[in-house]
Amino acid sequence: MSTGPAAPNAIVVRPGTMVVLVGSSGCGKSTFAARHFAPSQVLSSDQMRALVADDPDDQTATEAAFELLHTALALRLARRRTTVVDATNVEGWARGRLLAVARRVGRPALAIVLALPLETCLSRNAARADARPAAAIRRQHRWMADSLLTLPDEGFERVCVLGTEEVVAAVEVVSAPHASKYPEGTAARPGGARPPTRYRNA
Ligand code: GDP
Ligand code: MG
Repeated sequence: MSTGPAAPNAIVVRPGTMVVLVGSSGCGKSTFAARHFAPSQVLSSDQMRALVADDPDDQTATEAAFELLHTALALRLARRRTTVVDATNVEGWARGRLLAVARRVGRPALAIVLALPLETCLSRNAARADARPAAAIRRQHRWMADSLLTLPDEGFERVCVLGTEEVVAAVEVVSAPHASKYPEGTAARPGGARPPTRYRNA
């Protein structure tokens, strides 16, 4: 994460923010997280499954993995450490659980939606050694698209929608070190978030 003046294609992140990535498997969430954040800032569902079951693909470990993820998230946010949640997060109830954690410790929440075309997600997924069934990608992609309608009212301070590979490539994540420009106290709210900030034309 770099610091400095915010460019038009910049996503500004205040210290202690919960950054929720949203998108189907294969859309590029883990790649995006690794490009813009330090490894210690990223909590991924795969990493948590590996921690509890020695296997990032063991779906039977999902419940325990998310319990661990939510616990680590709360502990980090309480220490005002910016934390990225790298999971599909395409279901409103899953995002609701994350928002409850951020609200409990009084931290803001930012959603970054990787809204790439379905074909891109399918072809990237197919090229992976650990490819998921195409039907799962289609379903998650549909839920991601549905999420665009509800996300503005879920309690995120901002919702950034990245709609093309070019936009994803151009985005910069900028740390906002000073609270004066981005005041404290705008923690995740129960609802009524501002309209989404879109980067489609960035
Ligand atoms: P996730 O399942 O959403 O975490 O997706 P990953 O980050 O694991 O990416 C899935 C595949 O797409 C990997 O093979 C990545 O190398 C590839 N990928 C991710 N982001 C990009 C990108 O911006 N451009 C290209 N060309 N490939 C990407
Ligand atoms: Mg991933």
